[in-house]
Amino acid sequence: MSQSVLLLPGDGIGPEIVTEAEKVLRKVNEKFNLGLSFESGLVGGAAIDATGGPLPDETMERAQKVDAILLGAVGSPKWDNLKMELRPEKGLLGLRSGLQLFANLRPAILYPQLASASSLKPEVVSGLDILIVRELTGGIYFGQPRGVRTLENGDRQGFNTYIYSESEIRRIGRVAFEAAQQRNGKLCSVDKANVLEVTVLWREVMNELAQEYPDVELTHMYVDNAAMQLVRAPKQFDVIVTGNMFGDILSDEAAMLTGSIGMLPSASMNAEKQGMFEPCHGSAPDIAGQGIANPLATILSAAMMLRYSLNAEDAALAIEAAVSRVLDQGLRTADIMSPDGRRVSTAEMGEAVLAAL
Ligand code: NAD
Repeated sequence: MSQSVLLLPGDGIGPEIVTEAEKVLRKVNEKFNLGLSFESGLVGGAAIDATGGPLPDETMERAQKVDAILLGAVGSPKWDNLKMELRPEKGLLGLRSGLQLFANLRPAILYPQLASASSLKPEVVSGLDILIVRELTGGIYFGQPRGVRTLENGDRQGFNTYIYSESEIRRIGRVAFEAAQQRNGKLCSVDKANVLEVTVLWREVMNELAQEYPDVELTHMYVDNAAMQLVRAPKQFDVIVTGNMFGDILSDEAAMLTGSIGMLPSASMNAEKQGMFEPCHGSAPDIAGQGIANPLATILSAAMMLRYSLNAEDAALAIEAAVSRVLDQGLRTADIMSPDGRRVSTAEMGEAVLAAL
């Protein structure tokens, strides 16, 4: 059955890195006979310049029809003076909410070849491979009521509501259990069940779900301990599942264990397994157009797309192995340069991955 991919290069280094990822996707499409078709569209500043808005109707309509989206990055100082609702970032948020992308998957992988890039000791992080599954459309970031009010005595009070329904917990839980099944079968659910009732329910629902996934070993950890364990002994984790706010914080912490922003992919998925895949970094306007950006985070995002939305695990593994081989060869873009590395451009890095495939 043919599957379709929408490429949204966006702004800054976006077009440069998506070009390389597209070449890699076309190569595995041929090699593994995946039957993928590709189309591209406008989002962010590029869409503002062409159409006046960051998320044209045409882009949204196409996004709703395709099986998966590969996004570069949006934003640049050029559009920073526009009103909030017209800014490039609104294009991204519009896609996330319009497609109901409730599950955010962020791997933190440290290739052994890049162990010196981390601020932790190489033996603590070398070979690190964690996946954080964060609930993205609920929890305290969206709960009602919220606001700032003034009490009768004149004291001002800020308040938010930390709320999760059983069905919301169950659907993110399923994504995490299934991800653990595809990896090493270990899932750690992070909560604050000693203090917050909402996470008592979270823990209960995770335990219920565990009955359906006997091949996955479920453990629980309080969020304060999880923050500590991530820097003490991060390799104890396989998959971590948690709510929106805890996930926001822990996924950045885990990402930075690897020390190199140009290497980190991410996925945001909905209930139909349709997903938007993008590097964790932004549009890097400071280096845009110079041909020096690292395309590997985007290429690894393409691998995630094959694994999670397009049911092509072999092709995903082949891309990841090719990236590892290229690093073994000592090829480095400027952001991951090491004393013994050979510096290459964006396009040379993309070509090297193609050759390794
Ligand atoms: P950034 O991630 O774009 O850049 C931070 C630093 O990392 C810069 O020095 C940049 O040169 C470097 N860097 C980032 N990606 C790199 C890569 N692939 N290769 C080599 N170096 C890389 O973050 P920022 O500077 O805070 O934001 C720049 C713009 O990107 C802003 O307009 C911001 O709103 C936007 N942004 C977009 C997204 C997104 O599209 N998902 C995410 C974050 C920021």
